[in-house]
Amino acid sequence: MRILVTNDDGIHAPGIDVLEEIAREMSDDVWVCAPSEEQSGAGHSLTLNRPVRLHKHGERRFAVSGTPTDSVMMALRMVLTEENGGPPDLILSGINRGANLADDITYSGTVSAAVEGALAGIRSIALSQVYSRESHGQDIPFAAARAWAVRAIEPLLDTPLPERTLVNINFPPLAADKVQGIRVCRQGFHDYSRGSVVVGRDPRGYPYYWFGLNAIEHSLDRGTDLESIDDGYVSVTPLQLDLTHHSSLGALADRYES
Ligand code: MN
Repeated sequence: MRILVTNDDGIHAPGIDVLEEIAREMSDDVWVCAPSEEQSGAGHSLTLNRPVRLHKHGERRFAVSGTPTDSVMMALRMVLTEENGGPPDLILSGINRGANLADDITYSGTVSAAVEGALAGIRSIALSQVYSRESHGQDIPFAAARAWAVRAIEPLLDTPLPERTLVNINFPPLAADKVQGIRVCRQGFHDYSRGSVVVGRDPRGYPYYWFGLNAIEHSLDRGTDLESIDDGYVSVTPLQLDLTHHSSLGALADRYES
């Protein structure tokens, strides 16, 4: 099984080393192609206004001066070519430093790398380690991810999933032996928008604006990824790329009938 590992925290982030180790437990054909710089919050963006560079850091290790989507695209088009043995059977994105739960997944470069893989018809999984800076500081304990990732990934390898679907996995911020288990659950929603804007002045006196991420509330909603993490479970959520709201099609079509 050929595995491509990528992320949005950048090729030097500790989480991608953890994920590479996890991938190597499942295969000896593991390739890394990830952004050269942190790209958290990049979503599914594609670099169009400037060239990207491909840097080879090792026999199977590449960095792309672009977004997570750029990295997957470069891996599939320029690295894992037919001459190099062909495309991967599995794409793993992460392990992200922090949660990718509920509506936050729309901003997520980690999830979007898996979106790009799903669009290319490859089984793709995003993985994130939930943590809180208040209790953990800058050191992200990947213990739950390390101990539970293979158990979370393996059933997905031979489960038939429809085209253009991917899987989003989050690990709770707990020691490995405190994790309660694995739950398959739907995507939740936060109660209100996550972004805050901090206004400051640069050294020349001009204003700047910097988006922040507040810890935000969510109401208890049964069966969601948010609930699973709150309960101490690994959350496994299948996602689909068909964003159509099917049940609105009829009512909208009626409105346009002359
Ligand atoms: Mn990130």
